[in-house]
Amino acid sequence: MSTRAYSAHRTAWSPLTLPAPDHAFVHARGEAFESSDPATGEVVAVVTASRTADVDAAVTAARAARGGIWRDDGALRGKVLWRYAEALRENSDRLAELLTREQGKRLFEARGEIAGAAEMVEFYAGQARALYGRSIALKPGVHGVVLREPVGVVAVITPWNWPITLLVRALAPALAAGNAVVAKPASLTPAITVEALALLAADPDLPEGVLGCVLGSGAEVGHALVSHPGVEMIAFTGESETGIDVMKHGAERLKKVSLELGGKSPNIVFADADLDKALAGAENAAFFSGGQICTAGSRLLVESPVAEDFVERLGERVAAMRVGDGLDPETDVAPVVSSSQRHRILEYVELSSREGRIVARGEPPAGEPYELGCYVPPTVVADLPSDSRLIREEIFGPLLTVQEFADEEEAVALANATEYGLAAGLWTSDLNRAWRVGRGLEAGTVWINTYHHFYPETEVGGFKRSGVGRQQGLVGLEEFSETKHLNFDSNPTLW
Ligand code: NDP
Repeated sequence: MSTRAYSAHRTAWSPLTLPAPDHAFVHARGEAFESSDPATGEVVAVVTASRTADVDAAVTAARAARGGIWRDDGALRGKVLWRYAEALRENSDRLAELLTREQGKRLFEARGEIAGAAEMVEFYAGQARALYGRSIALKPGVHGVVLREPVGVVAVITPWNWPITLLVRALAPALAAGNAVVAKPASLTPAITVEALALLAADPDLPEGVLGCVLGSGAEVGHALVSHPGVEMIAFTGESETGIDVMKHGAERLKKVSLELGGKSPNIVFADADLDKALAGAENAAFFSGGQICTAGSRLLVESPVAEDFVERLGERVAAMRVGDGLDPETDVAPVVSSSQRHRILEYVELSSREGRIVARGEPPAGEPYELGCYVPPTVVADLPSDSRLIREEIFGPLLTVQEFADEEEAVALANATEYGLAAGLWTSDLNRAWRVGRGLEAGTVWINTYHHFYPETEVGGFKRSGVGRQQGLVGLEEFSETKHLNFDSNPTLW
C-alpha cells in the first residue's frame, strides 16, 4: 500500500453557507450545524437547520401550490423536469465534487450518481405527459372514467449514502404525477442536496411552493414533517427501524407511505458460473460504494466444489484494493461517511476475528493526513456460525461474509434466511437453474450474472423488512397518485 498525499488531488475548499439568499425554497431559520468531509474532517458547509415553524411553513406553501396548473398541465411538468435533467448534467462536475467532499464516495461514483439521477428525471419527464386513466362503457348511457390524480403534498425523506439518486427517485415521479414535495435530506449530506434541488427551484415555470425543503435532524425535523397533518404521503428511504417509526406516525393520520429500507443481500455463485466474471461481480456487489449501499451483496454464498479456490482468489483481490481519498482516481475504497459509522463497522470487524476466520483484509492508508479520515479497509470473513450477527445484521460498510452450500436447495434456504428481502445476485450458466433459483429468492431485485445495475424503467423495492411499495418504473409513478372514478349517467331516471 503506497502512501498518497491528499494535496495532489485536492484544492482548497471554502465552506458553503446554506441556505444561500436565493434559496427561497428552503425553510430554515433555526440553529446552525455543520457537514464535514469524511476524508479530512474539514467543514464542507455551515447549514441553518429548520424549526417546527419552518416545517409548518414549507407544508403550508406546498398545500397552497397543490392542485392548479401543476396538477392539470402534464406538458408543463414534463418540460420543467426535462430542463432539470439538463441542469443536473450541465452542473455534473461541480455537484460530483461536492458530493465526494460531503459524503466521501469516489469521484467516479459521484459522477455516475449525478448522471443516473439525470436519467431518472428524464424518464419521469416523459411519463409526466403519459399519465393516462381509463374509460369504460358500464351500461347503456353510463360511462366510467378513471383518472389518475396526485396524492397532494408528499414528504420525501432521504439517507446520506446516495443522496441525489435516492432523492430524485421519489421527487421526479412525485412531481411528474402533479404533487407538491417537501424534501428532508440526511443531516450528513445537506449541502449536496440543497445544491441539487436549487437547480430545479430556479426554473421560472415551477410554480411557487411546489418544491420545498427543510433541513436538520430526523428526530426533530423529520419527525415534525412526518407527523404534520398537511402531509398526505411520505416517501421514506432509510433504515428499517426508522421506517417502522415513520409508518407508525403516518398511520395516525392514515397517510400513504412508500418505504425503501435496509438489506442484507445474498450473492450466490454456482460452480457452473463464469467464475472470472463472478469474481469481479462479487467484489463489486460487496465493496462498491464501500458497501454503503442498501443492495450491497454482503453475504457471498459459494457452491462447495469451487468455494475454496474462489474465496482465495477473491481474498487476493480484496487485499490489493486501494483504500484512500475519494478524490484520488486510484482509490478503490473511499472513506465511510462519518466517524460514528466507522466505529460501528470496526466493531463488526472486531467481532469477525472472534467468531470466524478473516480471509482477507485491505490496509488502511498510512500517513499523517489519513489519520483524520474515516477509513475502513475491506474485509472478507468466513467460517461464521449461521446465527452470527455478521450474517444477520445490516453492517453498511466494506465487510463481506462467506458461506458454502452443497446444492440449489441449500443455496435458496441460506439466501432467504434473513429478515430482509431487498436484492440478490446469482451466477450460473444454466438458464433453467437461473429461473428456478430466481423464482425462489425472496427479494425485490434478482440480478443474474450481473450485480448493481439499475434502470429507471424497472421497479425496485423490498420484500419482508426491506420495504413497502415500489419505486422507479411505471409502478413507481402510480405510487404517487390516487385513482378517481368519475361516473357519467345519461339515463333520464336514476333507479
Ligand atoms: P436513517 O433511517 O437513519 O435516516 C434516513 C433519513 O430519515 C434521514 O434523513 C434521517 O435524518 C431521517 N430520520 C431519522 N429519524 C427519523 C424520524 N424519526 N422521523 C423521520 N425521519 C427520520 O438511515 P441512514 O441515513 O443511516 O441510511 C442508511 C440506511 O438506509 C440503511 O439501512 C440502508 O439500507 C437504507 N437505504 C435503503 C435504500 C433502499 O432503496 N431500500 C437505499 C439506500 C439506503 P438524519 O440524517 O438527520 O438522521
